[in-house]
Amino acid sequence: NRPSRLLGADSSFRVSFEFFPPKTPAMEEKLWQSIERLAPLAPNFVSVTYGAGGSTRERTHATVTRILKETPLRPAAHLTCVASKRDEVDEVVRGYGQAGVRHIVALRGDPVDGVGTAYEPYPGGYANSAELVAGIKKVGDFEISVAAYPEKHPESRSLAADIDMLKRKVDAGADRAITQFFFDNDLYEAYVERVRAAGINIPIVPGIAPVHNFAQVARFAAGCGASVPDWLAQRFEGLEDDPATRQLVAAAVAAEQVLDLVDRGVTDFHFYTMNRADLVYAICHLLGMRPAKPAPTEAAA
Ligand code: FAD
Repeated sequence: NRPSRLLGADSSFRVSFEFFPPKTPAMEEKLWQSIERLAPLAPNFVSVTYGAGGSTRERTHATVTRILKETPLRPAAHLTCVASKRDEVDEVVRGYGQAGVRHIVALRGDPVDGVGTAYEPYPGGYANSAELVAGIKKVGDFEISVAAYPEKHPESRSLAADIDMLKRKVDAGADRAITQFFFDNDLYEAYVERVRAAGINIPIVPGIAPVHNFAQVARFAAGCGASVPDWLAQRFEGLEDDPATRQLVAAAVAAEQVLDLVDRGVTDFHFYTMNRADLVYAICHLLGMRPAKPAPTEAAA
């Protein structure tokens, strides 16, 4: 039986949506169609990623500020400290503050030579995300989200070392952690238990990745240390040339995962949208979320 809070349209869930900055005008149009579709669900915030090595600095800034200007949404800007001096990073943060952005997703970022190579702190730069969080707090009173890894970060010696790092981020001022995506809810639940036992009390919001493209998700998972269960691979087996069925299976898989997390008491969800609204909109609908009705015009009243 699903909890009774799922039965009404008056949802008590809080969701956030992650987008990436578009490269081309066609991608930009698709992103804005997705934002327009998802905005009426009144997410807690929407975030915009920062390309590897700061490669999207301007595009991330442009997307975040456009969201701020043209929608009622509260945008969060992802920021990494890869290949940048502290004052360069601080300058980006100040720019966000001046534009009216109040929320930063603070990340160390991946090594410049790609995932799997050793991370070298940049000379004169922030060495890790805990230092970055402390640096952002010095620039201004931003809301700060950080990353968390239910299956540990691939560079970590152990899950305990990883949770120590999360504690350092919290001590530096992080308000919320968003997890790397995962498919096995038991792993998430066990992780949250360990995090709480370590005295960390900020929300650990599960990051949910709808599987639009199984091969792509499997590749990405291999790089970031997320496991892909055999049952998931089996569900997509043989559907390589059948996008319509793939989409239905992806919806079923995501709904199953999210509703099971609801049964386990989770109330906040972060969706990796890949700039697509369809699956995410459907899952939010299942959570009881309904688009806000536009306020009645004077004439109608
Ligand atoms: P940290 O918290 O600094 O470190 C991660 C872990 O690595 C730590 O837990 C620590 O245990 C271990 N570690 C770090 N340094 C060492 C060391 N020297 N020795 C041993 N262990 C070590 N990347 C982007 O480029 N742009 C984005 O917009 C972006 N958004 C993301 C959003 C979310 C929600 C998540 C989960 C990840 C995102 N990433 C993004 C990926 C992220 O940048 C990488 O996972 C990166 O490798 C680690 O960043 P971090 O902030 O978790 O680092």
